[in-house]
Amino acid sequence: MKTYKISLFIIILMGMIFIATSDPMKSLYKSSASIIAGLNTDNKDENKNKEKYLICIDPGHQEKGDWKGEPIGPDSPYQKARVSSGTAGISTKKQEYVLNLEASEILKHILISKDFDVIMTRESHNVNISNMERATFANDKNANMVIRIHADGSDDTSITGASILIPSQKGKYTSSIFEASYECAKLIKDKMDAGGFKVNGIFERDDLTGFNWSKVPVVLVEMGFMSNYNEDEMMSNKDYQKKMMQSIADGVEEYFKTN
Ligand SMILES: [Zn+2]
Repeated sequence: MKTYKISLFIIILMGMIFIATSDPMKSLYKSSASIIAGLNTDNKDENKNKEKYLICIDPGHQEKGDWKGEPIGPDSPYQKARVSSGTAGISTKKQEYVLNLEASEILKHILISKDFDVIMTRESHNVNISNMERATFANDKNANMVIRIHADGSDDTSITGASILIPSQKGKYTSSIFEASYECAKLIKDKMDAGGFKVNGIFERDDLTGFNWSKVPVVLVEMGFMSNYNEDEMMSNKDYQKKMMQSIADGVEEYFKTN
């Protein structure tokens, strides 16, 4: 009786193996695999065709300022230096253009992880790109938003906090990009407030070459004051940088979800 049971078990087992490896099963397996593969391909195509928003990040300044003049707006008789070298850290002695690029690279990676396309006006220090050229770069690439990253300096070492600058509503060149810039700036400010950062406010400017030449909505974030010992140190802290850039990226993401 025992031998009979074992033999029966072996026969059933062999039968199951035969069925599993037989052609009908193989083709069933193959067809279900290709259905799954087909679904995956469809998803990939969908992602590929999905329109991605293009963000241009402009890390402020560069290694050497260029004091030659350029018009502050299209057809403007007024000129300003093509690009200045920025401020420097009172404690870290770091140059602003170095800090700006450190933070901008972090912002770039966070935005890419949020499925944005990102272009940068510069990714090295030894360049010569004027503020007008930075604006027209974003225009020519049809960017959807420009984020300019800077840090502040003041003779008063007690002044702290971030500031958000946007093109002026009544500016001769910028009235058409004011609304979108302001909406995005508000959302960035909300996220920075929620992240625990001190934001002094959103300020309209009609005197910035980089705004006046822009056809793209643009927000400039002054991350804080390099002239304040504590804030200067904090802004060079990688975790602090990541947290602030996360807030800015969250604000940008929120803008494109709601607008
Ligand atoms: Zn600056």
